[in-house]
Amino acid sequence: MVAVDGPAGSGKSTVSDQVAAALGFVKVNTGALYRCIALAGQRAGLSPDDELEMGAVARRIEIHFDGDRVFLDGEDVSQSIRAPEISSFASISSALGSVRSAILEEQRRLGRQEPGAVLEGRDIGTVVFPDADLKVFLTASPQERARRRHEQLKAQGEHHDLAELLEQIIARDARDRSRSEAPLVQAKDARELVTDGLTIDQVVDLIVSWAQEEQDP
Ligand code: C5P
Repeated sequence: MVAVDGPAGSGKSTVSDQVAAALGFVKVNTGALYRCIALAGQRAGLSPDDELEMGAVARRIEIHFDGDRVFLDGEDVSQSIRAPEISSFASISSALGSVRSAILEEQRRLGRQEPGAVLEGRDIGTVVFPDADLKVFLTASPQERARRRHEQLKAQGEHHDLAELLEQIIARDARDRSRSEAPLVQAKDARELVTDGLTIDQVVDLIVSWAQEEQDP
């Protein structure tokens, strides 16, 4: 089991996809779970910091993955959970203990899939799988991450102001790092990988070689 944690826009998704493909593992994007809960809460008109109601939403909804697609109560929400307002909503509601505990066991179940899984998130190596075979903490400078998110949204035909995206990333980082429940921190036994100036292939090759070392030391 490989845990890939790190801040928004560090390249976790793309890298985890390719690492999983190279190892023949399943990839699980745990951020998508928090985003589905945020979308359901937003649609219900809830405030993202409503501990009681958001926890109830998190326990009630049914989320499933089919390859790259994410389904919320049977509806394909793969695109709508990526909207910037859902990113902000999710970063607030994911700080709630009621929300985190509602999906903890589900993440553990997803991580135990055979023949192996790559789980990406914020607290996989620290809380969800403290005994993961390999823990990677992926980072990049805020400017580099904003630039990547900008390109990603542009490729989807959406145009957002770069300076605004940078501001959102800095605000999300601060929230993710300062919350009391499962804050974004590097696990002591995680390997840090700063991806500024590295190509995706270089990052993937490095992680795959680490995973192979763990399997066959
Ligand atoms: O990874 P992604 O940016 O899609 O995650 C959306 C939000 O969900 C993050 O801002 C973070 O607050 C939250 N999250 C989390 N724990 C995880 C994965 C995501 O708190 N394991």
